[in-house]
Amino acid sequence: MAAIRRTPARWAPRGPPPPRSTAPPGHGSASLRRLLRAQTPAYPHTARHLHTDPHTEPGGHPTPYGRPRGRRRGRPRARRRHGGHRPRRVGFPRRRFGAPSAAARTQQVEYFTPQGHPRHTTVPVATPKSLLSAHRARSAAELAADGTVTSVVRNGPTDKKVDVVVIGDGYTLAQQKDFHADAKAKWAQISAVEPYASNRSLFNVWTVDAVSNQSGVSGDPAKGVVKDTALDARFWCDDIERLLCVDTGKVESYASKAPDADLVLVLGNSAKYGGAGYNGITSSVGYDGIATASSDHRDSAQVAVHETGHSLGKLADEYVYDTNGTYSGPEPDAPNITRMSVAEMKAKKAKWYRYLGQNSPDGGKVGAFEGGGYYPRGLNRPTENSIMRTLGREFNLPGRQAMIDGFHRHTGR
Ligand SMILES: [Zn+2]
Repeated sequence: MAAIRRTPARWAPRGPPPPRSTAPPGHGSASLRRLLRAQTPAYPHTARHLHTDPHTEPGGHPTPYGRPRGRRRGRPRARRRHGGHRPRRVGFPRRRFGAPSAAARTQQVEYFTPQGHPRHTTVPVATPKSLLSAHRARSAAELAADGTVTSVVRNGPTDKKVDVVVIGDGYTLAQQKDFHADAKAKWAQISAVEPYASNRSLFNVWTVDAVSNQSGVSGDPAKGVVKDTALDARFWCDDIERLLCVDTGKVESYASKAPDADLVLVLGNSAKYGGAGYNGITSSVGYDGIATASSDHRDSAQVAVHETGHSLGKLADEYVYDTNGTYSGPEPDAPNITRMSVAEMKAKKAKWYRYLGQNSPDGGKVGAFEGGGYYPRGLNRPTENSIMRTLGREFNLPGRQAMIDGFHRHTGR
């Protein structure tokens, strides 16, 4: 990649977070989990994924416009769930309760309803103790193979290409061939989506072998299943079945073995549907984000594509929380949401003015559709329904351009 970036994806300006008092009861963590539990058996394709945007609103809503204020409300979930463990909460300074410890962070959870509509909640970063206690020492052969880097796709030098690093979890020493095949297949699915498809030559793809003691990942097929794996990948993260969490520190240690990671994809060895997107992470390696996906479910690639919209494209989510009301902050940085009307964009030659009136690949013409960036009013989005609003859709025209711009931030062009 062209330049080391250590700051989290910043896709919108600081400003006032949504008022916490407007947090809808239906989107609070407890009711959210009840909803998900209720949906899961009937909707095997339900998609969910994670954000680690540090600008997380304490009530479970994203606040792309500023840091959360004060302490997260609610009962101590982690204590109940993780056997007496205090909920770990970090990612931002705790103003009234002192500095957070390294392990005390929370992360934003973004998941998709059966119809492909995303929602959020907040989860602790820490790996559950039940997963940490299962590890055995690896054999000499396993250690020798661990960390092996392989070039899967090579289109040029790393400083001129977007370097995608794929790391597998839940693959034993004997299964590393399977992992390499899965990595190729997943990249084929992701890069079939535009604008990846027309820009494949901008990418290098690498695999880094992470040798796990056991095959498969925790939480698959059932909640109580605990697997001893290299990256602690786990479904049922924070009690949400399709959330596929990983230990991001361990991911970084493997990603750092690749020549120049720009984007990291973790494949959990599983046929179960799930994924996660960590877009607010600060990586010393310099990559833009981590996406997780199950290896053997075709729809999980869609989650990864959406997440790269945030990480590579710096795109905002184009969906809303009805209870967030009207946005009153400054003009957001993200290229796909704006306070401006069509006339204002044209007059100022700002945001997606170049594309106004043009046909968009996700359907319809580019305009200014009210609602986006989690606010139903006060912010506009370019089209009715792009992949940044609903999974399975295309990027809209401004979104595609933002992705291409993101690719080229890593190609030195
Ligand atoms: Zn999103």
